[in-house]
Amino acid sequence: MNKERIYKGIPASQGISIGEAYLYTKKQIIINTALITEEDVPKEIEEFQKAIELSQKELRKIYNIAIERIGVKNSKIFEAQLEILNDTIFIEKVINRIREEKRSASYIFDDEINKLGSILLSAQDDYMRERFEDINDVRNRVVRNMSREKLISKVTENSIIVAHELTPGDTILFSRRKAQGYVTDTGGINSHAAIISRALNIPAVVGVKVISQNIRPKEILIVDGIEGIVIASPNPETLEKYEEKLRKFREQEEKLFGLIDLPSITLDGKTVDLAVNIDFEDEINFVKNCKECGIGLYRTEHMFIERGEFPSEAEQIEEYTYISEAAYPKSATIRTYDIGGDKLLPSSEKEPNPYLGWRGIRICLDRIGIFKEQIRAILKSSKLKNLKVMLPMISSLEEIRCAKKIFEEVKKELDNDPFYSDVYDKNIPFGAMIEVPSAVILADEIAKEVDFFSIGTNDLIQYILAVDRGNELVADLYKEFHPAVIRTLKNIVEAAHRNNIKVSICGEMASNPLSSIVLVGLELDELSVLPSLYTEIKQIIRACSFSDAKKLINSILNYSTEEEIRNAVKNFYEIEIKPYLNQIT
Ligand code: PEP
Ligand code: MG
Repeated sequence: MNKERIYKGIPASQGISIGEAYLYTKKQIIINTALITEEDVPKEIEEFQKAIELSQKELRKIYNIAIERIGVKNSKIFEAQLEILNDTIFIEKVINRIREEKRSASYIFDDEINKLGSILLSAQDDYMRERFEDINDVRNRVVRNMSREKLISKVTENSIIVAHELTPGDTILFSRRKAQGYVTDTGGINSHAAIISRALNIPAVVGVKVISQNIRPKEILIVDGIEGIVIASPNPETLEKYEEKLRKFREQEEKLFGLIDLPSITLDGKTVDLAVNIDFEDEINFVKNCKECGIGLYRTEHMFIERGEFPSEAEQIEEYTYISEAAYPKSATIRTYDIGGDKLLPSSEKEPNPYLGWRGIRICLDRIGIFKEQIRAILKSSKLKNLKVMLPMISSLEEIRCAKKIFEEVKKELDNDPFYSDVYDKNIPFGAMIEVPSAVILADEIAKEVDFFSIGTNDLIQYILAVDRGNELVADLYKEFHPAVIRTLKNIVEAAHRNNIKVSICGEMASNPLSSIVLVGLELDELSVLPSLYTEIKQIIRACSFSDAKKLINSILNYSTEEEIRNAVKNFYEIEIKPYLNQIT
């Protein structure tokens, strides 16, 4: 029997789960050397063809993007890789061999690629020899695409996933296998994989450094996403303690649920709108069942991450119309694609500094066709007049103006469309996310161009403090109460109000009970939070006096260290909020 071991990490998604570990090793490429049965042959061929199609699609996308970013000449390597996959004689040969030899597709494909490789390696020409690396890439891509699906479908349902690293895509795929918890060596609290696990309400502990090497398959784990602890092979007393903790956690959740439809108003009568962030269509039921709350952030990139490609205009219209209807009469803010950073497909090209790279609005303005299609789909879905459009990663006035011009062009096109001209919302609000320091400095000018601001503190904090939001090595430097952060938030709110526009916050900071007090005092008009924390934050707002929170802000604005601010907010919470929480009904 194994001894109990306790690992400390970063609490990334609240909740507790107890279950068996599934060890996920991404680099694992399965080349099955065993013979397959006669009945398995058609399925094997079908899977191989699917993997080829998917790899072609990925490579075409990479090739197109590469042409734009690095020019035709430097992109030739992807063209050469595509040629191999488009070579029908080569592909047919693999298929025939699967049929005849009854071997797995990965085995035969690997073998044929090796043959191709030895021809290239024996060539006199340097250029030909270098092509060897390219075909190796093709082999890995195709085999990975065959094994990825297999790997995920092999995961035992209800497991706790233990991995060195998880991408947002992995996190979604595992949730389809009813994952009960996520534990990773890497990752920070605001990495998108962490955000997605919170959205899915699956407990997660990230940044545990060496855990994936120390856990055995099927070992019993407790994931405590509140304290950021993982316990392997717990002894019976620990198990009992955690079962009790889990019961209390569920009890508290039920109690809070009673607040769901009460107004979001402070003790002294100031309304602070409370909305939710939605990452997936599945979360929409929360909004449907909640009388008060709209959607402060709808992250559209989930469609891209799940499908592996951009959805069509028709698919988008279906989705945005559904969102609009579900939220009605409350509003829903649709954010245009924020791809890049850590929200990548397995096929995406690696950038040296992805968070400073080709991200958000930058991609949309470079790929205008995709951007226009998305804007058109949002407008066509705006018949109920409760949708808003929001742009991510704005860093200059030029970007806002360029996006606005495109937005107006699409509106004009629709004005000439007999089917939509009278249907779409001509006054649909158009807003900017403030999440890059340059946008804070230009906040007054940007405010004049848009109808609202939404502050993305997840990015804003990483850029102000130069701390990668997804890197566990610097996770302790990522500080919401850093004086520079608090003062920046104050400047943004003042700039918005000076220009008579409203300002919301949709970063994870709004879902932190302690920070929410600060945000009330800073006079944010709306907090957009995780559905799982909606009632908890509402309870805090209802227990808080706006005038006292403002006094708190006045004093913390004078502090120069994070520690002083954090202590002052904690004190305020202990004395002014906590004693009254249970009386809030
Ligand atoms: C943010 O940056 O705070 C935000 C809400 O956007 P995302 O987390 O999707 O980057
Ligand atoms: Mg962001």
